[in-house]
Amino acid sequence: MKKIEMVDLVSQYQEIKEKINQALSEIMECASFINGPSVWRFKSNLENYLGNQAIVVPCANGTDALQISMMGLGLQPGDEVITPAFTYAATAEVIALLGLTPLFVDVDERTFNIDYSQIEQVISSKTKAIVPVHLFGQCANMQPILGIAQKYNLYVIEDVAQALGAGYTSPNGSYKKAGTIGDVAGTSFFPSKNLGCFGDGGAIITTNKNLSEMLGIIANHGQTSLYYHDKVGVNSRLDSIQAAILDIKLQYLDQYVEKRRKAAAYYDERFEDIEQLITPYRASYSDHVFHQYTLTLQGINRDGLKDYLESVQIPAKIYYPVPLHLQKAYNLKGYKKGQFPVAERLSDTVVSLPMHTELDETQLAYITEHIISYCNRSN
Ligand SMILES: *Cc1c(COP(=O)(O)O)cnc(C)c1O
Repeated sequence: MKKIEMVDLVSQYQEIKEKINQALSEIMECASFINGPSVWRFKSNLENYLGNQAIVVPCANGTDALQISMMGLGLQPGDEVITPAFTYAATAEVIALLGLTPLFVDVDERTFNIDYSQIEQVISSKTKAIVPVHLFGQCANMQPILGIAQKYNLYVIEDVAQALGAGYTSPNGSYKKAGTIGDVAGTSFFPSKNLGCFGDGGAIITTNKNLSEMLGIIANHGQTSLYYHDKVGVNSRLDSIQAAILDIKLQYLDQYVEKRRKAAAYYDERFEDIEQLITPYRASYSDHVFHQYTLTLQGINRDGLKDYLESVQIPAKIYYPVPLHLQKAYNLKGYKKGQFPVAERLSDTVVSLPMHTELDETQLAYITEHIISYCNRSN
C-alpha cells in the first residue's frame, strides 16, 4: 500500500507533470515572471468557471484576498465585522490587522458554519460586514445571511478558501458558485487547498465592476496609473508561474472534486453505523467539495484515537483546536470560555481524516478498518 498522506500532492503532480513542466519552462524561457500572460489567462478562465459574471482579481494569498476585500469596501478602524468563532485564524487576523473589531458568532454543530440565527443579536451601529466562511468545503446558509445583511446594510464577504468549486442553491432555485454570492470573496490557492498552486496564491472575487477596479488598485500599491498612488495599497501579486500551474489544474478541478466526493462517500458508508462517529452533514442548499472530511467524535477520546492512528501510520489533523474567541490576538471584546459552546465543543471533538484526490480503495479500507476497530474496542 502506498503511504497514506493527509494530502498527497506528489502523486497528484505525477498525473499532470508533462503539462506543468512544459508551462513552467515556457515562462522561464521568456522570464515574464510577473504579470505574464498566464496570470490573465488564469483570471479569465476562473471567471468563466465561476460564472455569474464573476470578476477575479488575482493576489498573493488568501489572507491578502480577505484583507484587500475589506480595504476595497472602505471599512475603517473601529468598524465591527462578524465572523464565526470556529474557522481558520486568517479570517479574524485580517479584521484585527486593519483595526476592525471581530465579533464572533457561534456555529451550527451539524454544518460547522456560522449559525445565522445568532447574528442579529450581536449587530450594533458600528457593525459593517459579515464574513461567512464556507468551512471544510460546504457553503454557509447564505440566504438568511444575505437577508440580515440587507436589513442592517452590511457587506457580505465570503471566505471561499476551502470551498472553491462548491455551489449554493437559494430557496428560489437559483444556483451560484461560492464566491459569487456576497459582495466580495477571498480565496486561497495554498498547495493543499482544492485548487492549489506550488507556493502561495490567492484571488478576490466580486460581481461588482467598480469594486473590482478598486480591488485591483489596492492590490497593486494603490496605483491608479503607473507611479500615481491615490490610495494606500499593498503589494499582492499572483506570479506567472503559480498562475500557469493554476490554469492547468483548473481544468481538473471538477474531476478533483469528484475524487474527493468519492472518498467521502466511502468514509460515510463505512462509518454509518458507528455510534461514536458523526459523519459530515450535507446541507440541502450546498454541494460539498470536501476540502476536509471531518468527523465529530462522541464518547471516545480524541487523543487516544489520534495516537492510535499515528501508530498505524494514518495521519489525522485537528481543524481547529482553539476557537477564535479564545485566541488572545483576536479577543478584543473580552469573550469568555463557555460563550460559544458549539465552537468550543467542536474544538474538542472534531478530527479530520486524510482527504485528497489520490486516495485509493486499499488506503480507504485500511483507514476505515482501523478507525472502526478502535471504536469497537473503546466501547
Ligand atoms: C487557507 C485559509 C485562508 C488563508 O489562505 P492563505 O492563502 O493561506 O493566506 C483563509 N481562510 C480560510 C478559511 C482558510 O482555510
